[in-house]
Amino acid sequence: MSSLKFKIEATDSRARAGVLTVNNKKVLTPTFMPVATKGALKSTPHELLDKTSVLLANTYHLYLRPGANTVNELGGLHKFMNWNGVILTDSGGFQGWSLPTKKVENGIQFKNVYDGSTFLMTPKLSIETQNILGSDIAMIFDYVVDIDAPENLQNEAISTTSEWAKIARETHNNNEQSLFGIIQGGLVKKLREKSALSMIELNFDGYALGGLALGESRKDRKDIVNFTSDFLPIDKPRYVMGLGDTLGLVDLIAEGIDMFDCVWPARLARHGKLITGNTYINIKNKKYSSDTAPIMESCPCFTCKSYSKGFLKHLLKNEQTSAWLYLTIHNLIQTEIMLDGARQSILESDFENFKKRYI
Ligand SMILES: [Zn+2]
Repeated sequence: MSSLKFKIEATDSRARAGVLTVNNKKVLTPTFMPVATKGALKSTPHELLDKTSVLLANTYHLYLRPGANTVNELGGLHKFMNWNGVILTDSGGFQGWSLPTKKVENGIQFKNVYDGSTFLMTPKLSIETQNILGSDIAMIFDYVVDIDAPENLQNEAISTTSEWAKIARETHNNNEQSLFGIIQGGLVKKLREKSALSMIELNFDGYALGGLALGESRKDRKDIVNFTSDFLPIDKPRYVMGLGDTLGLVDLIAEGIDMFDCVWPARLARHGKLITGNTYINIKNKKYSSDTAPIMESCPCFTCKSYSKGFLKHLLKNEQTSAWLYLTIHNLIQTEIMLDGARQSILESDFENFKKRYI
């Protein structure tokens, strides 16, 4: 039996503030999970993210390197990464969409990015790998298609994902690990409904909406999340995969989503675009060359406490790798602060006002 517990502390309209507990670790929701694909954040030690509760690692990448058994020999994923917080592993299903692959009957044929050989990732192998890695939360292996794929393909995505979800359920064999289902169906309501109901039948510890943040409009995304979440049990966490821009997060917190992940704030930072509350600045802008102020006076992050915009611009311009580190910390801390603020406003029945500050 999984140890995951989820308690809603307050709701404000559809928005929810909750507490997720797994393996005696507590996560306040809504929560944002920075992406540590290969066991580490790109360019940033996670030790500097004191507001983060959950990190996301990726099964596909860890399966290839260093391999689940090696991670296990090194003490399991938490010890391997030196992270005592919660770890969620994504199943590799998304890489089935984002990398050159071929879907076959019992799984997805991948090309090994390191040596060019092909290998088959099956729903069974994905779960077995996650069981060995020892994350706190595992995801089923899902089949992702383009957001605007024709309905027959969307239909194939939900029926395949549903079949693979059953295999995940049967295979999963780690009492210290929870398992989430994933709902597919693009923007087609009847397919999202069918997919949600098939996942609920398997009684997962939480439910994710996959196949989003793939180019759809904000309105379409919000509508389909609104529609789909009505089918989900109130007392289980809800997770929208792959979304991390500020507006998108606020939109979907408003729809009752509890968990998010995305490479976006970190990737944005590496390009010099920095979150400043409800807007952004581009640190590469000439006007910051002689700016002695931090990115944000009010930001408690290490970067803002230590460095001026002028210095950070200089580092980025001269391709100093430390620039990536400093700028990423800022964007991730700002994202966590935004979610903290959303949570607080839900607890105080003031989410509408909070939302107005961002949208
Ligand atoms: Zn900062």
